[in-house]
Amino acid sequence: MKAISLAEPAARETPGVVRARHPHFSASALNAYAECERKWFYRYVCAAVEDPGSAASTYGTAFHLALERFHDRHHRPQPGDTSAMQRDLAHEIEAAFAENRSGFPTAVEFEMQRRRALRTARRYVSWLAAEAARAPFTVIGREVPAQLDLEGFAFIGFIDRLDRDERSGTVSVVDYKTGKIAESAQEYRELVREFGDFQLAFYYWVRTAAGDRVQRLVLLPLKDALLDVRPVSLEVGESITVAELERAKRRMVEICTLLTSKEPRSFGVTEDPGACEYCAYTFACAKRPPPDGERFGR
Ligand code: SF4
Repeated sequence: MKAISLAEPAARETPGVVRARHPHFSASALNAYAECERKWFYRYVCAAVEDPGSAASTYGTAFHLALERFHDRHHRPQPGDTSAMQRDLAHEIEAAFAENRSGFPTAVEFEMQRRRALRTARRYVSWLAAEAARAPFTVIGREVPAQLDLEGFAFIGFIDRLDRDERSGTVSVVDYKTGKIAESAQEYRELVREFGDFQLAFYYWVRTAAGDRVQRLVLLPLKDALLDVRPVSLEVGESITVAELERAKRRMVEICTLLTSKEPRSFGVTEDPGACEYCAYTFACAKRPPPDGERFGR
């Protein structure tokens, strides 16, 4: 039998510089970086795999589209219009889900998500009517482009909705959320303070630069059809300070500086297995943390 001779190991490559490929940044890209540096590297540097999306992400896309169209007609919600608003939003949900049918892997999944959206939409309208009775407001923007230059770093994004309070003239920035979010204003504030989320801070600075008096930052949960809609709402100056929003802005600039520097660096994996649950790169990521339940089994 012929002897097998092992090849010499390949020489280790000299570490090279990895830099952000895109000329612009977004708050969601920095959120991905804060959640897991390796995820940011796979998604924004390598474009390692094309994320095919999921029923959950298509649910979000369709719901956002339905609300954008709905508020085109109902830009000044009235408590007495509840029935008309229920009818119109149900119509927009049906249309938006039909347009996004191909994003649902099966007919059953499509039907389940469509029904979930219709039930959630009813709760949304109930909340909208109550909110309009409490403090009348006008929807002044839907899917508003958000662009801002932060110390030479160009940021872009879209704001789901902007409302103007009719009594005070102040503006609320509203972000629709169809996935997991902080459960309270306090929890979201902590996330901002720990630099785990930059989205609402970014929108605050975009609209402040545009001349708005931004008073409220709102996360609007649209995930659970069995629960009433209860927004996570932060009053600027009370539940979150301008200084905290300023710190978040400064941290955004620091991260951008790091990501565009010429220093070689590695991108570590997260320690939180929850971040890996829906990550598109789990198959490629050998160093991901084990799921919580398996930690003692390894
Ligand atoms: S699988 Fe987990 S550790 Fe790996 S890139 Fe995704 S989030 Fe990060």
